[in-house]
Amino acid sequence: MPIDEYDVIIIGAGIVGVCTAFELSKKGYKTLNIDKNPAVGYGSTSSSCAVIRTFYSTNDASALAYEGWHYWTNWADYVGEINQNDLVTYHDTGCLIYKTQSNNYLSNVGPIMDAIGCPYENLTADQIKQRLPIINTSRYEPVRQVEDDGFAEPTGPELAGGIYFPVGGYISNPQQATNNVKDAVIANGGQFKLNSEVVEIIQQDDRVAGVTLKDGSQIHAPIVINISGPHSGKINALAGKGGNTLIKTRPCRQEVASLKAPDGFDYEHEGPLCADDDVGTYSRPETGNHMLIGTVQPPCDQIDWADADDFDANISEQLTTQVMRQAQRYTDLQIPASINGIVALYDVSDDWNPIYDKSDLAGYYMAIGTSGNQFKNAPLAGKIMTQIIENCEAGNDHDENPTSMELTNIGWTLPLSTFSRNRKVNKDSSFSVLG
Ligand SMILES: Cc1cc2nc3c(=O)[nH]c(=O)nc-3n(C[C@H](O)[C@H](O)[C@H](O)COP(=O)(O)OP(=O)(O)OC[C@H]3O[C@@H](n4cnc5c(N)ncnc54)[C@H](O)[C@@H]3O)c2cc1C
Repeated sequence: MPIDEYDVIIIGAGIVGVCTAFELSKKGYKTLNIDKNPAVGYGSTSSSCAVIRTFYSTNDASALAYEGWHYWTNWADYVGEINQNDLVTYHDTGCLIYKTQSNNYLSNVGPIMDAIGCPYENLTADQIKQRLPIINTSRYEPVRQVEDDGFAEPTGPELAGGIYFPVGGYISNPQQATNNVKDAVIANGGQFKLNSEVVEIIQQDDRVAGVTLKDGSQIHAPIVINISGPHSGKINALAGKGGNTLIKTRPCRQEVASLKAPDGFDYEHEGPLCADDDVGTYSRPETGNHMLIGTVQPPCDQIDWADADDFDANISEQLTTQVMRQAQRYTDLQIPASINGIVALYDVSDDWNPIYDKSDLAGYYMAIGTSGNQFKNAPLAGKIMTQIIENCEAGNDHDENPTSMELTNIGWTLPLSTFSRNRKVNKDSSFSVLG
């Protein structure tokens, strides 16, 4: 007993799902985002560190991120004037990455940034210290467990330097960003159905036909997109042949600490985003002169694979480990007895790159495997999904003849085959993330 008809159903109302609805609604599609949560951006998006940086380990991934940065710095232009919620602000901090043996002293950064025309600056350890006087520039690599012999004992007098990217910053409130886009979707006629769990993907005549909700009601649409974040594998499993992909996704548990930055320095306004492979952390300023500390998945840590519906949401020793590692760099960091933090899930693909693609089931699409690093690219993910859908619904085969997208702000042609569900694992991937 169908109750409603839409052009497109989007399973999920995180930042990627809502940006996709925005782009489709601009093209006249009648969209419906369905989410089991009570608010948009309430899933993994709400826990995002929302770091906006431009460096990835391939030209195309870096180009996408550099293009994406333009949306965050021109947010009002992107979402328009209609917003009822306060627009989020992009915090322009710049981004610093340290050169280490494990990242091959960032030897690939210069060629990639030159190729995409993104500015960067090589810095010596002394120059880094001048900009960020609260750091200790000793070398600690390899990353260790806190209880290991040699933890916090320098392995070298000085870091090998770093690379500073003036283009880089963060969004303090990722859920609010999602609300901003939601308002823009509604202004275009798009709709949202919250507190509603999809339990079935309906197929008819070898094509997707809609979804069934947990309360038994059905909603029909000729196009359904899986943008369910860490539940992506479970939703694909409901889609029959639509869920067949060579690249798989699975949830990975993460902890991020929040604590006061060292005294005596305006870290909130002067501190850059930092990726520190030497101690295995990434960090960024947060309002109230706070510091967020995440992990870059050093080899000595086991990846904490999880079940999206059954994982430990309590903070653990891992949080303390991340803070202790970071305290090697910021020796004046005051570590409280009880550290605040969050636990959340990444939706990790086999090569830590996203899947933005069609599927083997007509009308069923997916924007998944965002691997802890696609908040920054969400506006572009929406455009990519819209281009793929328009292309496929016009009768073209995106597997045989994948299209490209023009990244107009930076002048780059992005082959969309990069995001194929059936690509070969990208061996150039770092297989980790720094936001
Ligand atoms: C701790 C952490 C730090 C991060 N830091 C950064 C960063 O610094 N920079 C960056 O660029 N990216 C970062 N990311 C990644 C980024 O936040 C994600 O890539 C992005 O938020 C994914 O958005 P999404 O819309 O795809 O998924 P989500 O926000 O997870 O939304 C998916 C939605 O689908 C819904 N859903 C699932 N199953 C169903 C169902 N059966 N029925 C109905 N609804 C369903 C969920 O309720 C959820 O709301 C981070 C992620 C985490 C977890």
